[in-house]
Amino acid sequence: MLPGGVTTARIGALDWDVAHRAFPAALTRKAPLVRTCVGCRKRAPASELLRFVVVEDEAGPHRFRLVPDPARRAPGRGAHLHPDPACLSLAQRRRAFGRALRISGVPDAGALVEFIGPDEQGRTTDMSTR
Ligand SMILES: [Zn+2]
Repeated sequence: MLPGGVTTARIGALDWDVAHRAFPAALTRKAPLVRTCVGCRKRAPASELLRFVVVEDEAGPHRFRLVPDPARRAPGRGAHLHPDPACLSLAQRRRAFGRALRISGVPDAGALVEFIGPDEQGRTTDMSTR
């Protein structure tokens, strides 16, 4: 082993310096992934939004279902939404799902509604009071 504590300390300081040069701040600092909520159209860190994907329904062609993907790993075309009933109903009223996912018609959002839950205030559709 190395004699004394001084040399060891100097090596340690050197390593620290090298590490800082090898890994610039851009890499060590996590850049937030920003996505747009299809409901309120606000941009937010992806971690604050619920990702969902669209899958073609077994019931037939051109019938689609929205499936929540909280793990953000499902393949396929996805979009993002605040896990908020208000944003969900907003997206439904604006028919934003079809547009965001580039599908025709209105997809079945049943699984999403179930995942996010009902509006706590009981205002599922009326946004005029906000
Ligand atoms: Zn939103």
